[in-house]
Amino acid sequence: MNIPLADLHAQYVPLKDEIISGMEKVFDSMHLFLGENVQALEKDFAQFCGAQFGIGVSDGTAALQIILRAMGIGPGDEVITVSHTFIATAEAIVLAGAIPVFVDIVGDTCLMDVNQVEAKITPRTKAILPVHLYGQMVDMDPLLQIASRHGLKVIEDACQAHGATYKGHRAGSLGDAAGFSFYYSKNLGAFGEGGFITTSDPEIARKARMIRDHGSDRRYYHDLIGFNGRLDEIQAVVLRAKLPHLTDNNELRRKHSRMYNELLASLPIVTPTERPENQHIYHLYVIQAPRRDELQVWLKEREIGTGIHYPVPIHLQNSMSNLGGKKGDFPVTEKIVDQILSLPMYAELSDEAIRTVASSIREFYKS
Ligand SMILES: *Cc1c(COP(=O)(O)O)cnc(C)c1O
Repeated sequence: MNIPLADLHAQYVPLKDEIISGMEKVFDSMHLFLGENVQALEKDFAQFCGAQFGIGVSDGTAALQIILRAMGIGPGDEVITVSHTFIATAEAIVLAGAIPVFVDIVGDTCLMDVNQVEAKITPRTKAILPVHLYGQMVDMDPLLQIASRHGLKVIEDACQAHGATYKGHRAGSLGDAAGFSFYYSKNLGAFGEGGFITTSDPEIARKARMIRDHGSDRRYYHDLIGFNGRLDEIQAVVLRAKLPHLTDNNELRRKHSRMYNELLASLPIVTPTERPENQHIYHLYVIQAPRRDELQVWLKEREIGTGIHYPVPIHLQNSMSNLGGKKGDFPVTEKIVDQILSLPMYAELSDEAIRTVASSIREFYKS
């Protein structure tokens, strides 16, 4: 039984007719950018998140970069985030001209250790950028309090958290703005690249809308420096077809996670911790496992796909070496990166597949 880490085809099959006919309409009209599909998605996904404004953009990295620029954050400014995330989080800060400043994570959730943030605030700090990694939201209340005490903006990296909640509030509704990715394998994924910004601040929304389109709100008149960060109609067709199923699919992922948790209990591994105030949407189901590399090979030999998200912390990446990061800076991050392993997780995953994965892991630790 071949069990992939993610199965995008299974999600496509029931939506095929709707997606193809939506695409046909776009091709017939040749209205390819910022048309009715993008506009409808902007309204619907902003509403889904509980934000006042939604702006479709080209990808998640662009979403974060545009938000920073729209807030006027740039050269000389510092933005506090985590080292344990996908590179794009820090890259967006650098691309906006600002400096990423890292804090460590909490070991059980792999999320930003909010208690470490205040010590990193300097007169140059402009924003805090929490990452709702794997599909679980950061402890937002204390973070928002710190931000308001110091007059800082909060930007949610919600690229893995479409529909996740914290105390009943969805990702994208609590910060000053949030960036989402519609990369094809995210819980809400396009058939290519896509991204989204939510905010309830009209000024951030207005500027973000301009920056994604070369700083313009009237064709060929450019008031801000922007870039080409538009979302295209074809991707919006796919996203509109998938959005009505997002909540059900997230629920299925949650159900699968509970089954994994039960079947993997009593093994020498740590299953994901879901904090009581959160609804984790399991973009990734990540265990912490001793002898992780051997386990990964073992599962591969049994045709079970896994992933490591992410093997190298950002402060130790070559592209970020000018920030002066060194081994030992973030002990929790550096410890878990050798133990984390993402197991197969997608809405259509069968109970039988989950049992197979769990029993293969069980056999590994017996051997
Ligand atoms: C996917 C992702 C991004 C970047 O999104 P792209 O659409 O690939 O540019 C940023 N941050 C996190 C945490 C992500 O998972």
